[in-house]
Amino acid sequence: MPSRPTRLDRRQFIAAGSAAATLAAAQSAVPIAAATERPAPAGRATRAGTGSSATDTDVLVIGAGLSGLQAASLLEENGARVQVIEARERVGGRVWTLFDLPGYPEVGGNSFGAAYGRVLDRARQLGLPLLDYAPRRALAPQLELVLGGELVPRARWKDHPRNPFQGPLRERMPWEVSGALIARNNPLQAPEDWLSPAHAALDVSTHEYARRLGLDDAAASLAFSVNPYFGSSGHDVSALMHLFNDAFIKVSMAVSMQSLSVVGGNEKLPRAMAAKLRREVHLRREVVAIAADDAGVTATCADGMRYRAKACVCSLPFSVLRSLHLEPQLRGAQDVAVKTLPYMVNTLVFMVPTRRFWESDGLAPTMWTDGICGTVIGQRFGDDPNEITGFVANPRGITATWLDRLPPAEAQARVLAEIERIRPAAKGALRVVAMHSWATDRHAAGDWAVYQPGQVTAFGNATASATGRLHFCGEHTARGNRGMEGAFESGERAAIEVLEQL
Ligand SMILES: Cc1cc2nc3c(=O)[nH]c(=O)nc-3n(C[C@H](O)[C@H](O)[C@H](O)COP(=O)(O)OP(=O)(O)OC[C@H]3O[C@@H](n4cnc5c(N)ncnc54)[C@H](O)[C@@H]3O)c2cc1C
Repeated sequence: MPSRPTRLDRRQFIAAGSAAATLAAAQSAVPIAAATERPAPAGRATRAGTGSSATDTDVLVIGAGLSGLQAASLLEENGARVQVIEARERVGGRVWTLFDLPGYPEVGGNSFGAAYGRVLDRARQLGLPLLDYAPRRALAPQLELVLGGELVPRARWKDHPRNPFQGPLRERMPWEVSGALIARNNPLQAPEDWLSPAHAALDVSTHEYARRLGLDDAAASLAFSVNPYFGSSGHDVSALMHLFNDAFIKVSMAVSMQSLSVVGGNEKLPRAMAAKLRREVHLRREVVAIAADDAGVTATCADGMRYRAKACVCSLPFSVLRSLHLEPQLRGAQDVAVKTLPYMVNTLVFMVPTRRFWESDGLAPTMWTDGICGTVIGQRFGDDPNEITGFVANPRGITATWLDRLPPAEAQARVLAEIERIRPAAKGALRVVAMHSWATDRHAAGDWAVYQPGQVTAFGNATASATGRLHFCGEHTARGNRGMEGAFESGERAAIEVLEQL
């Protein structure tokens, strides 16, 4: 993980030290791990000691992200004996809060809306209060546009020589075009329709889709290849991904415009879910091999520990799963999916302001750039909605890939220098406090799954197929929901599959 003198570094350092201690303990332990039942469901997820046996385990869940924890919770609520194991030293996976920074910024999953029924239910059940961020965003909705290093005020954009759009689209800022086009031209009646063969003709690149809608190359590139939400450019992502996402957003917006998060940090949700399980989550258990047979499933960890259960739910992203040894090997379309499904490259640089520089230059704190800092967002996560608690620069796609190749200190310095060059008032007024690349995070190997043109048709309906007693969940297997709700949907589906089998 390329993070420098930041809290993330210290966490890693602690993790490395503790992992060595756990490994030393495990070397003298019985090779088959046993579940540690706890008397009351109020404990926190802890580092498993030397482990224990597992012949009394119905279901092994690999991965303590939202999907794995949702599967585990539902299985337990339905009477199964469940053990969750997790490679990291924390639960939550791609939901990760920086509890030691002002406002508790999120490294992963940020917000959820009204369509997130399962997430909302679980948060309510666990007594977690929620905050609606939408009114805070409305306090300062404007973004500064920066193209080729030049600040372009909204009033000048319509007639600016760099504006490649035609007709009414010229009035739209670049970040508004892709969403507006997709929303207006989306034939999907429901989010899950993206997997229907009836829409296979739309399994083309987003760039091509934009060209079909009348955009020329330059316009399609600015709309879909700069700061892309999916893929590294509009050329390597299927239009069906955008259409699926748009259909999901529409469901949410039909109910309300809320943008919710857990008060005090989203990571409180997976923490509370893990704490409610009867058995402690075993942390620092990195699975390297999974073998399924007629009677059950055995998972082997990097430290030699083995877990056996009657069934297994594997929640690992395909970007990680493809490097594990699976027995039997997956077959057909699912095998192709595991080996080839790409993941979004996304890097975040967290900064805190030492001076309110945006008041000196009179510009909006938040910027959308085509340079190495990507979007730079002023966050209002504190008690006072007017206070900016921090900034996050978020290069994506090719820009993030390029930054990830630099030594982290240099990457951070370059991002900072770019912001200071664009707005000199920021000189010396920002301090980098953390950085994380999801692409180089070995337990995620990317941000979220992104289908390339043709891949939805090739294997969209095959990602979640069970192999005997080995079942799969994770956001990448969701059919009708995105992000955190997709993770919950997939965990629920996998739990039902297992309960039918046990
Ligand atoms: C920057 C960012 C912003 C996001 N913003 C939003 C948002 O605003 N709204 C939204 O809805 N969603 C958002 N998401 C997506 C959302 O966070 C994810 O879809 C969701 O958390 C995925 O959950 P999961 O259980 O499928 O995967 P994960 O959380 O990745 O869970 C998999 C687990 O498996 C573990 N693991 C990996 N390898 C091994 C191994 N070998 N052995 C054992 N365990 C292993 C991992 O550590 C992890 O805990 C965002 C994600 C990111 C990264």
